[in-house]
Amino acid sequence: MTLSSSLDAYEVWFVTGSQNLYGEETLRQVAEQSQAVADGLAGLPVKVVWKPVLKDSDSIRRLALEVNARDDVIGVIAWMHTFSPAKMWIAGLDALRKPLLHLHTQANVELPWADIDFDFMNLNQAAHGDREFGYIQTRLGVARKTVVGHVSNPAVVQQIEDWQRAAAGWTAARTLKLARFGDNMRYVAVTEGDKTEAELRFGVQVNTWGVNELVEAVDAASDADVDALVAVYLDEYDVAPELQPGGDRHQSLRDGAAIEIGLRSFLEAGGFGAFTTSFEDLGALKQLPGLAVQRLMAEGYGFGAEGDWKTAILVRVANVMGAGLPGGASLMEDYTYDLVPGSERILGAHMLEVSPSLTTAKPRLEVHALGIGGKDDPVRLVFTADAGPALVVAMSDMRDRFRLVANVVENVEAPDLPKLPVGRAVWKPAPDFATSAACWLAAGAAHHTVMTTAVGIEVFRDFAEIAGTELVVIDDDTTVRGFQRELRWNQAYYRLAQGL
Ligand code: MN
Repeated sequence: MTLSSSLDAYEVWFVTGSQNLYGEETLRQVAEQSQAVADGLAGLPVKVVWKPVLKDSDSIRRLALEVNARDDVIGVIAWMHTFSPAKMWIAGLDALRKPLLHLHTQANVELPWADIDFDFMNLNQAAHGDREFGYIQTRLGVARKTVVGHVSNPAVVQQIEDWQRAAAGWTAARTLKLARFGDNMRYVAVTEGDKTEAELRFGVQVNTWGVNELVEAVDAASDADVDALVAVYLDEYDVAPELQPGGDRHQSLRDGAAIEIGLRSFLEAGGFGAFTTSFEDLGALKQLPGLAVQRLMAEGYGFGAEGDWKTAILVRVANVMGAGLPGGASLMEDYTYDLVPGSERILGAHMLEVSPSLTTAKPRLEVHALGIGGKDDPVRLVFTADAGPALVVAMSDMRDRFRLVANVVENVEAPDLPKLPVGRAVWKPAPDFATSAACWLAAGAAHHTVMTTAVGIEVFRDFAEIAGTELVVIDDDTTVRGFQRELRWNQAYYRLAQGL
């Protein structure tokens, strides 16, 4: 089964609330106008499907049950065109298990002041119909995104797109199977976590396989398959002469290709969308998987190094949320700092495993020694992430819950790094280096992150809301003192929210 990150197979349903009180003619207009609103969302990445106007409690509940049962329906957009008495929505909202967006809009942009009569007022009353709906959602504690404005406004449509992408990421998590080859790096704390809780919260199945099961799949790679994959490498990358056919170290490239073939076949056979490796547990693998991991991440797989399954989940989710957009998502690690006052920068990299989806340049394919792992020199792609806006997000297990921490950053041009042959990124964090790092440390956020250059913070905010998971954000509005207060409040809030 080939992994898909596409949004094409998904739908969100557009539902309109009203009631029978208004009579047939008004309800006909409600239906017409709500169809026009739904049509205004036709350009979104996930198809918006208009549903007949809901007018009573039973049809609302039945719609919620149908949405729950349909794997392809990843969320519901709701609008109360007229007044839809909200007790009708209790059973449906209580049953709904999919992401909800409340669109607070109306059919017209301008008011036809001179022509407004009571028929107009009767038809166009979302201003209070949606307030009734807001009340019941809040009273029931329904997680949702609220978007305000007319669909002709691009800012409104963008907010709905962000939510659609978050809902797609959520759907991907709910169906994600993650394979760990070996355990976490010995003695490391932050990459640990409660895998049972992760399956309940995010829906991800996290399980471990002995690395020698992967080795069997690698050994099964045929010479013909290796030849074909080497041809792909020669086409897609700037391959070092020593790795090319006839070169001194061509065998290293063939070994790397066999690892990719074996890894891919294992993941496809098991229906996995994410995986981890551990340099301490490579069994009979000839190299630490570098090139293979880089390419699989760029195709949409989630990955975490050193057994870090939590970051692997984030990479997979970010890959789906960014589907079809420029940029990509990758495992990243804060490595070392340039501390020149006023122009501080972070150099991020990993031993090898950074996704080439972060660059639009042609990566170089090289082989070099690696000081750890005790294996043959691994092949890897060498590049620097494109300059531009980016986001890093980490997940920590805080004992009673998962915490997501995000930092809005700017990738910048990197100086030449002739002696650092790995994929890497250089960035400036918001709001400034000292505030960013102090907040990150205060939050207990990990050194591993997903870096995404495809989606922004709003998509992750929506994802966290849908997932009912804490997210603290470090951006241009952040101060250390304010951030510390937020952490303390969250500590209390999330414990209370889980029920007393
Ligand atoms: Mn690491």
